[in-house]
Amino acid sequence: MSSSSSPAVAQHLLQKEVCFGLVQTKGVIRMGRCEVCGNEYDKAFQVILAGKTHVFDSFECAIHALAPTCSYCGVRIVGHGMEADGAFFCCAHCAEQKGVTELQDRAAGG
Ligand SMILES: [Zn+2]
Ligand SMILES: [Zn+2]
Repeated sequence: MSSSSSPAVAQHLLQKEVCFGLVQTKGVIRMGRCEVCGNEYDKAFQVILAGKTHVFDSFECAIHALAPTCSYCGVRIVGHGMEADGAFFCCAHCAEQKGVTELQDRAAGG
């Protein structure tokens, strides 16, 4: 009875593989071009909306491109806004003008 195969080497390799989780792709973009105004800016940033990646040089451009507009008054909805039946509203008042009454800015009371 003599079995002298040592699994020490295999174990050593396993320990090394633990490090793989830390490998990261370089997420730094040196230069990005805003898809709204075309400005190339080293601090451009990406916004992922519905799985699609957009590049902007400013939040203003991002809002211009991506923010929904109020179905009643047409302003860009930069805050949370409201949604009903696929339509966006900037506030409960605008929703009401379109006949959507179940949305409320604040709890009715007093
Ligand atoms: Zn821009
Ligand atoms: Zn509105």
